[in-house]
Amino acid sequence: MSSIVQRLAAVRQRLREAERAANRPEGSVKLIAVGKTHPASTLQEAYRLDQRDFGENYLQEALAKQDALADLDIVWHFIGPIQSNKTRQLANRFDWIHGVDRLKIAQRLSEQRSPELPPLNVCIQVNVSEEDSKSGVSLDELPELAAAIVELPRLRLRGLMAIPAPHHDFGERRKPFRDLREAMERLGRQDLDSLSMGMSEDLEAAVMEGATLVRIGTAIFGKRGRKE
Ligand SMILES: *Cc1c(COP(=O)(O)O)cnc(C)c1O
Repeated sequence: MSSIVQRLAAVRQRLREAERAANRPEGSVKLIAVGKTHPASTLQEAYRLDQRDFGENYLQEALAKQDALADLDIVWHFIGPIQSNKTRQLANRFDWIHGVDRLKIAQRLSEQRSPELPPLNVCIQVNVSEEDSKSGVSLDELPELAAAIVELPRLRLRGLMAIPAPHHDFGERRKPFRDLREAMERLGRQDLDSLSMGMSEDLEAAVMEGATLVRIGTAIFGKRGRKE
């Protein structure tokens, strides 16, 4: 039997248990399968097991897989760093963009999103960890960026995203996720419904703090950079 069958079942089980531990309704957290470095055929295996949301980090790799899987009813999430000269394809080949952290990028995505497509779902990436990461807007600058992005006609601001530094301690793991949830609450906008946080190692902590989208790679597809 394929190891993806077992791993995907195990991740779904972890999610259900995390939802229960957090007193949240079953199915309130959406699982995004992160396929970076894995071939289209591997993603297709997960699709056959009813996985519909897929996340990719690298544009060229993602476009090739989208072409290979064009017949499938997939929701594509771009979760990687955004280069401003790549926004046209990002704007038109994805359903969600998670890592928006500058107004200029958001404006380009809005301008370039085809009028035939529904507004592009975006999350603002926030730098909540104490370390000095390059990406993500600071908590201080978030309100201004959010206020500007909601005015862009071809974007739909859905919420916030973060990639905190790893922690061994469960309580320490929860803190940056809590910071992100509280930052969204402070924005005070009822139309924001998404917190994109939690990866293979820390999905339980993220679900406890209100994650609605978890981005899981290794726990579904195995370690990257190794043949299965
Ligand atoms: C690779 C990646 C993930 C998945 O990480 P795993 O630890 O393999 O689950 C999630 N989010 C982002 C932004 C990533 O780059």
